[in-house]
This record gives sequence, C-alpha cells and structure tokens, in this order.
Amino acid sequence: MSRLAVAAFAAALLAPLIPDAGAAQRPGPPPAPPARRATPARRQPAAPAIPRPRSILGFEPGDDRKLVEWPVLVRYFQALAKASDRVDYREVGKTTLGAPFIALVISSPQNLRRLDQYRQINAKLADPRTLRNTAEGLDALRNGKAVVLITSSIHSTEVGGHLSPVALAYRLATDTSAATRNILENVILWLVPSLNPDGVTIVSHWYNGTLGTPAEGTSPPELYHHYTGHDNNRDWYAFTQVETQLTVDSLHNVWHPQIVHDIHQQGPNGARLFLPPFLDPVEPNVDPLIMDGVNALGSAMAWELAGQGKTGISIHATYDAWTPARAYQHYHGGVRILSETASGSLASPLDIPLARLAEQSRGFSPRERSWNFTPWPGGHWALRDIVAYQADAAYALLQNAARYRDRWLANFLTIGWRAVRGWRGWPYAYVIPARQDSVPLGTLLGTLARGQVEIRTAQQPFTVGGQRYQSGSFVVVLRQPYAAFAKALLEPQRYPDRRVFPNGPPERPYDVTAHTLPLLLGVQAVLVQDSLRVPLSAPLPAALLPKAARAYGGFGAGEAPRVGLYRSYAASMDEGWTRWVFDTWKVPYLPLVDSVVQVGNLKEKFDIIVLPDQAPRAIGEGLPRTYPAPYPGGMAAEGAQALRQFVFDGGTLVALNEASRFAIQALLLPVRNVLEAVPQEDFYAPGSIFRLELTPDHPLTRNMPPTTVAWFEEGPAFDVLDTSVVRVVARYPSEPDRVLLSGWVLGPEKVAGKGALLEVRQGQGRVILFGFRPQYRGQSQATFPLFFNSLLLR
Ligand SMILES: [Zn+2]
Repeated sequence: MSRLAVAAFAAALLAPLIPDAGAAQRPGPPPAPPARRATPARRQPAAPAIPRPRSILGFEPGDDRKLVEWPVLVRYFQALAKASDRVDYREVGKTTLGAPFIALVISSPQNLRRLDQYRQINAKLADPRTLRNTAEGLDALRNGKAVVLITSSIHSTEVGGHLSPVALAYRLATDTSAATRNILENVILWLVPSLNPDGVTIVSHWYNGTLGTPAEGTSPPELYHHYTGHDNNRDWYAFTQVETQLTVDSLHNVWHPQIVHDIHQQGPNGARLFLPPFLDPVEPNVDPLIMDGVNALGSAMAWELAGQGKTGISIHATYDAWTPARAYQHYHGGVRILSETASGSLASPLDIPLARLAEQSRGFSPRERSWNFTPWPGGHWALRDIVAYQADAAYALLQNAARYRDRWLANFLTIGWRAVRGWRGWPYAYVIPARQDSVPLGTLLGTLARGQVEIRTAQQPFTVGGQRYQSGSFVVVLRQPYAAFAKALLEPQRYPDRRVFPNGPPERPYDVTAHTLPLLLGVQAVLVQDSLRVPLSAPLPAALLPKAARAYGGFGAGEAPRVGLYRSYAASMDEGWTRWVFDTWKVPYLPLVDSVVQVGNLKEKFDIIVLPDQAPRAIGEGLPRTYPAPYPGGMAAEGAQALRQFVFDGGTLVALNEASRFAIQALLLPVRNVLEAVPQEDFYAPGSIFRLELTPDHPLTRNMPPTTVAWFEEGPAFDVLDTSVVRVVARYPSEPDRVLLSGWVLGPEKVAGKGALLEVRQGQGRVILFGFRPQYRGQSQATFPLFFNSLLLR
C-alpha cells in the first residue's frame, strides 16, 4: 500500500469529522435572484424572463396527448439556459441520425463560474493516487460538490421521460425555496434530457400522426433507436453506439458522477414507481459500498415521495443488478438509481381499476401491502402522473445528494481507494498476448480503454504457468480505479442457480447472464494470480493501442452478393443489430419488408435473404390490425411461400436463432428443434456463452478455429431427420459439463452433442439455420465469420 493510498484512506475515514461538512452548517449561499418571471417591472433589464415550458412547447409537460419532436425540446432548453444563470447548455455531439445530443449543467451561478475547478477536485477523488497528501484529500472532500448525472428517455416510448427533464430543469431554474438553494449550492447536476434524441422524434412523430385513430398509443412500427431499439441501454460496456460513446466519453469519464439516475417507465399494471434496492443477484465485482449507496438512496427517495402522499412505490422488486450492460457507473465509483414509472398509452391516459393490476410481481404484489410496497388504489393514470412521479423522484434524489454531500464524496473516495489497493482474493492481472487477430484485439483493448482501464505492456519477455509471453504483451493490473470493470469483462461469469421455489422453475434474470469479452471476441486473455516479475510500461495512451480496423475483407470488387435483410414492422432489435454490423463492416444489403417478400420472384433480386432473430409468430403475423396499412399482418402464408420458392430457385436463406424455427416450419425442413416445448425446469440458458465445435472443411467454417463460442439465448438446438440433405456445420460438445463457458445453463445434457448450425439443401438452394446469435448485440466477433461466410454461399 503506497503512502498516498494510506493518506487517501485516512481522508475518507476522517470525512465525518470535518467541521462544516454538512450543508446546514455552511454559510448560506447568497440569496437567489428573485424569480424573474414574477413581475416584469422588477426584472433586471438585461436578464430575459425564464421561459415557461408552455411558451415554447405549446403546453405544460404532462398535458394529456401532448408530445413534441426533439428540435422543440432543444429550443426550450436553449432558451432556458439563455435566461437562467443556473443553467448552461452544451451540445455534446450528434446522434446516429444527426440530431444534437445535448446536456445541461445546473448548479448555483457561482458554482457554474468555477466548474472546471470542481471537475478537477472530483477527478482527484475519483483517483486517490493523484492526491499528494492527506491535506489535499481533506481539502477535496471539504470543497468538492456532489456530481449527479440524470439521464432520461433512452427508451423513447417511455414518453414521460421526454418531458420530466423539462419540468425538473424549470423547477431548478426558478424555485427560490431553501431546498432548491441547497441543491444548487451542493450539487453539480448534469442533465441529459434524452439519451436517444432520435427516438424522441420517431415516437412523437408516430404518436401525433396516429392521434385520434385506432393506432393512437401504439408503438411505432420501427425501432426507436436506428440500430438497437430497446437494446440501447444494453450497450454500457460494449460502447457500440454513438450515443453511448458520447455519454461515456464526455460525461461519465470527465465528471465521474457519484450518483447516476436513469429515468425509465415500466408496464402500466404493476407498481406506479420502482426504485432500488435492486433484487439479487448483484454482479460480484461491484464494490459493496456502491450497493449500500444504491439501497440508501433509493429507499430515501421512496420515503420522500411517500411523505408527499404518493402511493404504489415498490422497492427491492423486479430488477436485479447483474449485467454491466446497463450499469457503467457500478464499475466507475457511482451508484445507479433506476426509476421505472408506470406507463400510460404513450401520452394518452389509461383507466386502471384495481382488478386490472397484476396479482403478483417479482418481489411484491401490486394489490397488497408489504414491507416494500404500499398499494395504489387504482383509477385514472395520465401523463401528468408520470411526469410528477419522475420529476419529483429526481428532485428527491438531488435533495439527498445535497444533504449528504460529505458522505457521498467520502464514500466515493473510499471506493476509489479500495480499487487502487486491490481486493483480497482477486488475481494480480490479466495478460493479453499482443500477437492476435488485430480486429478483435483492437476491439477488446479499445473497449477497456474507453472504460478508463489502464493497460500496460510488458517490457521484457516473461513466463507464466509454463507459457512464454513476448515483450509487448498487454497487461491489465487489477489494482487501479476501474479494475472491477476490467475484471467483470475479462472473467467468465458464474450466474447463481436461482429458482422461483426449491427445485422449481428458474428465476428469470432481468437481462442476460454472460458478458465475457475475450470469449465473445475470440481473443486470449490470461489470468495471472500472483505478481508478475517483469517490468511494465506506464499506462498506454489510447493512441498507442492497436486499432480495430473494422472492414470486412470478404468481398472482392463486384463479387458482393445481393443481400436482402428482412425487416419486420413488428420491429426486431436483432434486425437493427444486424444492420449495424453490416454498416460497420461494409456489407451491402437491401431492406426487405413484408410486401416485397409477398410479391415473390425473390431470386431475381437477391442471392441471400437474412431473417434476423425474431419469434416465428412475430414474423408470420406481425403487427395487429389496429395499425394502418402497410404495417399489420406480417409475412403471412404468401410470404412463407415466396421464401420457399426463393430457396428452390437457388437462393440462400440464412435464419438466425428463433427465426430458424420459423424457417423449419415455413419450409418444412427435415430438422427437429430438440428444445421445442421443453419446460424451463429441464433446460434454461437465458443469454449464456456456450462452447461450439465446428466441422472442418465446410465453407461456413472457413478461417475459423476448430472450436469457438455460441451466444445462446432462447434459441433452438437441432436433430437432423434426413442426413442426405442436412449437414451439421457446428454442434455443442457431447459432454454436458463442457457446454457452458460463461453465464448459466440448466440441463446442458438437452443440447449436448446437438446441432447448433446446419446447412439444409432444398431444390437448387439452401437454408442456413443458426441456433444461436452469431452477431449478438454487435459484440460476438468470434462468430462474425460464420455469419459472413454464410453470405458468400452460392
Ligand atoms: Zn426503459
């Protein structure tokens, strides 16, 4: 332990003793300027009045059936920042579709004037190694501000989140109460009104266009994030999307918030609001002090809102804290407060009698009082309620951050110090050999670097576990501020075997169970338990890391196949991810919608048709008849017939994961899904990494090693019924205990030895059945070649 670390730790321990640490004892801030909207005559001549939301939006946030597109919201925030000395406006970058991606910073005028100074203080607390002595640590604790990042409307159909940032920002800009003054004095708030501005426009445009029709309140017939749809908040470790990158690079990594609050909505028939604590399991690399903070803050917010008379708030329910895909800050010193308010029908109100509330939810019943829930009596539920729950919850969070500023900062420093010191029982480091395929290696190192993981290189050759490593090998020492991020992503996951009741069905994780990047990328990363006896470089600047050159070299000039990518109006996230992979790796394709499929003659237009992962029923039946033409109805029988003809005419149909079940049915393939109708007690793997054995000498396995991985998520596994036309290209190991590499599986014997990737010949063409997701969320580069090779079959 270095002396600096000792000093930092001492500072953290001493924090409660610092006089004048609590806001209550501070000399009061200068009186806030009078509310400038009060009487025009009293206004300072130069200061414009704080604009009311109505003046630009045309309505108050929460008015029934009122949504606006993103540019209108941007105009409001610009006007607010122009008029208020408590609010600054920043354009952080551009979204996927080119809209401004913005943030507001809100604090007292004097804090805003010294923003850079507070950033520097906070950066020292984030990395205790930068504190020169105890006095500097104490100074930082005394003078720092609590940094809070509030993000909203990443899921664009959760439309309260479009508007509650307006309500919150207006309140903070105008309110003269002691509570708001205390917030402004002690907190620097970064408010991102939308993590997905493109989706605000997509949803508002659809909603306003269908208002007063049978489709009012329905979700748009497209993904509300161009590439990822709802998966856009499953990107917080892979950083594939522009919006994630902007938030991480410009806000998280610069401002190191102690508290991050992400505003969401859930279904209409459960609790009115969920707040943490989260359910188990908690991912084991998260510092327990972070979870303590989550529990304390979520509970305090629920208590505050209950005191205001709000009912129907559940805590410790529904949502677990396993995946880093949703929680960057859990690995970067901050707490994550997820709020999930009950939805309406987009901006249209609902009447929800008590009897319609779910009888049972995970962790509570929405109809019964329990320790973690006070029932809401049922009744009218409107956008105004949603905005009130969201904005008041955010305000309660800010009050807590202001009141306990000293505790938030001291704990933040302690979390950093413990990470730098290293955790008992953790390995010393991971070694990542330098001589590996450059694209996935560059992706792995770039991902770690974006997560602010320090990467060093060995300056001499060395030997570990009988293996020789060259000079220049990359080394990630697990004693550094964000070691937990590195460890969580580099190690295999062992998800606990959780059941609804003993020996009963599995308890469904909220998201997936595995996130081991070296497996997904096909890169070697070697755990080193004890110290390495080799000199290491200083942490490498990002510019010196190998770059992931993302260009697929599979097509020669003029050789590119004509690829049609099926695009259901019942939008499939996997279709979006497939498009992202194609766009990023420069694979040309055309979108293929139901009406084009149904016309037939597909072989004249396409060599390859890809069916992304989607449930057979969603492909076949699509959207309901409440949608206007051309959206409802799905592919239907005519579409299935046209695909069958396409294959008989010599086309290649590539079906991914659940879409393989559609292809088996629609084309009557001599293949059986061995998992069809198998109950979850007997087999379950909700997003896990399996071992995959490949058949050599098949065009699909060209340039592949003999074994790789499969991202398994509710996919089929295959028995072959006619070996004269079906070839198994990849299968799971025949020993059940070798199937799982990371995550969770129940009943691996059900898939052991079964087919995972098949080529089925029909007529002049063929069907390629993937039983897994070869381009899972843009991450599983290990199996991209299988997918790309399938596009080259002729
Ligand atoms: Zn959401």
